[in-house]
Amino acid sequence: MTDATRSARVIDGKAIARATRAALATRIAGLGFRPGLTVVLVGEDPASAVYVRSKDRAAREAGIDARTIRLPADTTEPALLAEVARLNADPTVDGILVQLPLPPQIRAQAVIEAIDPAKDVDGFHPLNAGRLADGRPTLVPCTPLGVMKLLAATEVPLRGARALVLGRSGIVGRPMAALLLGADATVTIAHSRTRDLAAECRRADVLVAAVGRPEMVRGDWIQPGATVIDVGINRLPDGRLVGDVAYAEAAAVAGAITPVPGGVGPMTIACLLENTLTAALARRG
Ligand code: NDP
Repeated sequence: MTDATRSARVIDGKAIARATRAALATRIAGLGFRPGLTVVLVGEDPASAVYVRSKDRAAREAGIDARTIRLPADTTEPALLAEVARLNADPTVDGILVQLPLPPQIRAQAVIEAIDPAKDVDGFHPLNAGRLADGRPTLVPCTPLGVMKLLAATEVPLRGARALVLGRSGIVGRPMAALLLGADATVTIAHSRTRDLAAECRRADVLVAAVGRPEMVRGDWIQPGATVIDVGINRLPDGRLVGDVAYAEAAAVAGAITPVPGGVGPMTIACLLENTLTAALARRG
């Protein structure tokens, strides 16, 4: 194959998410009870409202007893904490998700820490983050969990592979690195202070980009044949949605690549449903 014709395998996140959701629906139908998921939405942020509707619909389709609690934008932190305490105590609720971002009068960290770790289907509670960092089974943040499922479905070898995670946020980069380490990859975490990012990327057999910078990762940053997972979702001024990776350039070099949209995004919701099932089963022993 010449360089002009080389093209990466496209990792179809939509299809893999569909299959994951169908398998979950089958498992849930055989349980004899419906796991309960409650999503709390504070305020009227339009993007959050869209996410919450998608989560609600996907959960119902999988046979989950999904409820959405909508609270006004001027809700106080004590009022939200009281709602979380009520959900913690409600035996019909297996999973609690408070949609972020929250209005400025509410500290997100205080709310995350108030959620019962056993119902923390976002996997953001420090106890769950600590367990993950320690290599123990726990509720894992949905986006990095989804990335692991994409890698598994694509049969990307991870044991001994060089993995580079670009980004170190608590919701994507750090848990992503912990999961890859747990799969026996040799993991490097890069961030805004990393020297010679391009050279770090070029060493990677598996590159996961989660920076929130449109098309920052260029084709010549990628090792030929590498697997490229693009977590980024960036809206350009012209309305187009792009990832953190310059897709066309990267696809000409990589072995496999996720598109944006249709790559990691659909897996995030599928993994929320899976976490709800995991929490429901764990709570019932
Ligand atoms: P954050 O802004 O919390 O973190 C971004 C990370 O990227 C930081 O660690 C930052 O480094 C690093 N970074 C920023 N600029 C650079 C740079 N120029 N060079 C190197 N590193 C840099 O973002 P998130 O982790 O929350 O999200 C990342 C992306 O993933 C976003 O586009 C977001 O929309 C998307 N996303 C997609 C999801 C999905 O379902 N597909 C779910 C969640 C997020 P430092 O720590 O040094 O500041």
